[in-house]
Amino acid sequence: MTNTTDTADTATADAGATKLDWEVTRNLVAKSPQERAEILANPGFGTHFTDHMIDICWSERGGWHRPRVQPYGPITLDPAAAVLHYGQEIFEGLKAYRHEDGSIWSFRPEANAARMQRSARRLALPELPSEYFLDALKQLIAVDGDWVPSAPETSLYLRPYMFAKEAFLGVRPAHKVAFYVIGSPAGAYFHGGIAPVSIWLSTNYARAGKGGTGAAKTGGNYASSLIAQAEATEQGCAQVMFLDSAEGKYLEELGGMNIVLVYKDGTLVTPQSESILEGITRDSVLQLARDRGHTVEQRRVTIDEWREGAASGDIVEVFACGTAAVVTPIAQLKAADFTIGSADAAAGEITMSLRTELTDIQYGRAEDRHGWLTRLSQ
Ligand SMILES: *Cc1c(COP(=O)(O)O)cnc(C)c1O
Repeated sequence: MTNTTDTADTATADAGATKLDWEVTRNLVAKSPQERAEILANPGFGTHFTDHMIDICWSERGGWHRPRVQPYGPITLDPAAAVLHYGQEIFEGLKAYRHEDGSIWSFRPEANAARMQRSARRLALPELPSEYFLDALKQLIAVDGDWVPSAPETSLYLRPYMFAKEAFLGVRPAHKVAFYVIGSPAGAYFHGGIAPVSIWLSTNYARAGKGGTGAAKTGGNYASSLIAQAEATEQGCAQVMFLDSAEGKYLEELGGMNIVLVYKDGTLVTPQSESILEGITRDSVLQLARDRGHTVEQRRVTIDEWREGAASGDIVEVFACGTAAVVTPIAQLKAADFTIGSADAAAGEITMSLRTELTDIQYGRAEDRHGWLTRLSQ
């Protein structure tokens, strides 16, 4: 197997980055092995956290400094901290996977690091050098590696994030910023087999607009999608689907996942837009499809194309993709005045085999032919 820990990143923020000198403070009230085992037996998603967290400070004068591994716990913030007022915040999401030999790996973390730099530029936050990002993940795994579960399809979800902590109510990019990483064990997303989901088409709300922050991974995009997500839940749907804000015609993405349509001739089509978040899962799945000889098109797709293609039998499968749920078959799209597909539609074959191939690579069960895995454990 050819795994690589090389991160050939040429972003300017990485130039001249020196090695971080970590200050490690162990958690004296860490969970006992037994308590941890109980949590890992049924972790759910996003409710349990490991014993430690990563914290790196940034100031306009001092740059990135004081990298720390510290006990997981509440953060003290000045009530005037800019993030609480103006939402200057970005985040990332990736997973640590335990392989059969016990080693711990992550999937394309340098792509998350690069995307966080792009998000940082859009939100006027400082760029964290990629090697600091990777070093932070390794430091957390060094103290909390036992929190990476080993049952099939489980993982430790890693959440790096950055926010404006300067106490200042004036409106300008903050001069003091914090970067954190926390870890949360994640169970198999689907219990008892992958269940195709229904999604709700939002026509009252848009997620992002031209020139906005749609392509950045920032909390504000989620804040503005919650009302539409609540509407989806009311409609019995798992997720909300957004169209472009200008014409309400072109597919964008779901609240937190990208979308891919599969055509009868094997072509995979995914929306092209300046205002969607470029998913690493989507990029990887499309690469696997290309490897198999599928044609892949990234272009504008209208909701009518989906509607008509599904009716004529030209579009045979649709799936959503993102780190948390990997690849999720979409059974049905519900809109106020029409429906595409049906709630009991079976998962598509291409969807499921791409999902299997991707997870096999992530869990070390298939050859990592693209050098996508980075070892986090020593
Ligand atoms: C994170 C995210 C995705 C999926 O990205 P991955 O890198 O595949 O996890 C898609 N859409 C939005 C809005 C996101 O925030």
